[in-house]
Amino acid sequence: MADCIFCKIGRKEIPAKIVYEDRLVVAFDDIGPQAPTHCLVIPKAHYETLNDVGAEQEGLLGHMMLVATRVARDKGIHDKGYRLVANTLAEAGQSVFHIHLHLLGGRRFAWPPG
Ligand code: AMP
Repeated sequence: MADCIFCKIGRKEIPAKIVYEDRLVVAFDDIGPQAPTHCLVIPKAHYETLNDVGAEQEGLLGHMMLVATRVARDKGIHDKGYRLVANTLAEAGQSVFHIHLHLLGGRRFAWPPG
């Protein structure tokens, strides 16, 4: 999508600290980290929210989660613990409308989330 910020990162039209990339996804450091490790895993294809992803993209969603575990290992938080979050629509706090998984770690998190 032409003016989507995460599509632009996927196409390397704007800079990001990319920590993993393959044919389907890109992972990069969040610009406003909420924890010592805070990365985002995005598909290169544009889907506004999780509600827009159909059953045919089941493999892509699984791939995003596996990439997140790989990045967690690379970042050294794999064995201590980490949190994956996919904010979906306004009430959950989604602010960028291109699906993404937050990978957060390096500190203790509260539950329930705020
Ligand atoms: P959400 O609020 O769940 O939609 O998360 C969007 C995330 O994208 C936030 O944590 C932002 O800090 C992050 N973000 C927005 N723009 C950029 C950017 N250009 N590079 C890296 N992270 C970004």
